[in-house]
Amino acid sequence: MIQNAILVRYSEIFLKGKNKGFFEKTLLNNIINQVKDYDCKVTKISGRIMITDYLEKNEDRIINLVKNVFGVHSISPTKYFDTSRDNIESYIAKIQLPENEKFRITVKRADKTFPINSTEYSKILGGIVLDNNPSAIVDLHTYNVDINVDIREQNRTFVFFKVIAGVGGMPVGTSGSGLLLLSGGIDSPVAGYLMAKRGMPISALHFQSIPYTSEMAKEKVITLANLLSDYTGKIKLYICSFTKVQEAIHKYCKPEYMITIMRRIMIRIAEKVAKDNNLKAIITGESLGQVASQTIESITSTNIVANQIPILRPCIAMDKEEITVISKRANFFETSIQPYEDCCTVFLPKYPIIKPRLDKVEQEESKLDIDLLVEEAYKTIEILEINN
Ligand code: ATP
Ligand code: MG
Repeated sequence: MIQNAILVRYSEIFLKGKNKGFFEKTLLNNIINQVKDYDCKVTKISGRIMITDYLEKNEDRIINLVKNVFGVHSISPTKYFDTSRDNIESYIAKIQLPENEKFRITVKRADKTFPINSTEYSKILGGIVLDNNPSAIVDLHTYNVDINVDIREQNRTFVFFKVIAGVGGMPVGTSGSGLLLLSGGIDSPVAGYLMAKRGMPISALHFQSIPYTSEMAKEKVITLANLLSDYTGKIKLYICSFTKVQEAIHKYCKPEYMITIMRRIMIRIAEKVAKDNNLKAIITGESLGQVASQTIESITSTNIVANQIPILRPCIAMDKEEITVISKRANFFETSIQPYEDCCTVFLPKYPIIKPRLDKVEQEESKLDIDLLVEEAYKTIEILEINN
C-alpha cells in the first residue's frame, strides 16, 4: 500500500550518545506540539521524524508549521511503502515526465540488507524511468525533476521530489531557560527568537509606565509574545510597573543619566525575576552603537549590576537592516512598528550621556533608595501565560 508521509530531517553532526536521544525527544515533542491542531501521527524512525495519517489537504499547512520548528533541517512530502524491488520498481515505472524533461534519480540505502547498492540501483531505476519516458534526459546537474528513493530501516521506502529547507538551530528545551527583556520594538523579539533558536526556552519581562504609556502598548507586547511563542512554545510574560522608578529618577537624578540608571534598575529587577524562577540568563535586543544607551560604555555600566547571571545580546553585532530581515521573516515586523509609546521614551532627556563614567553613574544613583525601588517594582509584577 502506498501512503503519504512528511519526512523531517535534523542535523545530527554534533549529536552523540545521551545527547542524541535528548535532542530527538525534545524535537519530537516540539513538532507534536506545533501540529496539535491537525489530526496526525508524529513518530520517530531511525535518523528521521515521520508525520503520517493526516488529511492530504492539510499537507502544505503542516509543512509550513514544521519548517519553523527549531532543530528542523529539511522536510519532504513523500510517498512510502514496504521495501521490495517489486514495490519500488512498479512505483518508479508509473512516473510520467513531460516531453524532453531533464531528471536525475538518487537512491539512498540506509537499510544495508537491501541487496543492491545505491549507485547500482540508481542506474537500474533511471533505466526504468527512461523506458517509460523515452524522450527524457538524465542530467545530474541541471535537472528539473529530482527523484529521490530513500530505502530506510524497518522495511520502509520513501520516494520524494522536493526538499524544503527548515529553520535549523537546536530544539527549544535543549538549553536552560532565559529571561528576555521584551519591549515593543523591533530588536528584542528578534533577540528572543535567536536565543530560542539555540535551544533556549524563553520567559519575558516587560516594563510599562502607566499612565505615561498606554494600555495599547501592553497589548502590543502581548501580541509580540504570542508571535514569538509560535517558535518557542509557552512563554511566561512578566509585566512590571516601572512608573515609580521613572518618577524617582526624574525627580532626583540629572536628566542625562536617566536612561543609564533606568537600564541598571531594569537589570536588577530582571536578575531577581530570573533568580526566583530558575532562569539562567537575561536576553536583550541591544546592538552596539545603535543609540546613546548602546555604546560600549553604556553597556558596561548596565552590565556591571548583574551579579550572578550572564546578559546575552544576540543582536549586538547586527545592523538594523539585518535585524529587520529576521523580524520580517519571523512575522514580528508589522506588530513591532505599531506606534505605541515605550516606557523608555518617557521623560527622555534631550542629551543623554553617551559615554557614562561608572563613578558618576554611581554618584547619581546614590540619590535613590535602589533596593526599595527594586523591591516595590518587583511587587507589581503580573504574570501572563502566553501560548501559541
Ligand atoms: P527594541 O527594538 O528591542 O525596543 P531598541 O532599539 O528600542 O530595542 P532600547 O530602547 O535602547 O533599544 O532598548 C534596549 C533593550 O532594552 C531592548 O532591546 C530590550 O531588550 C530592553 N528594553 C527596553 N525597553 C524595555 C521595556 N519597556 N521592557 C522590557 N525591556 C526593555
Ligand atoms: Mg525600544
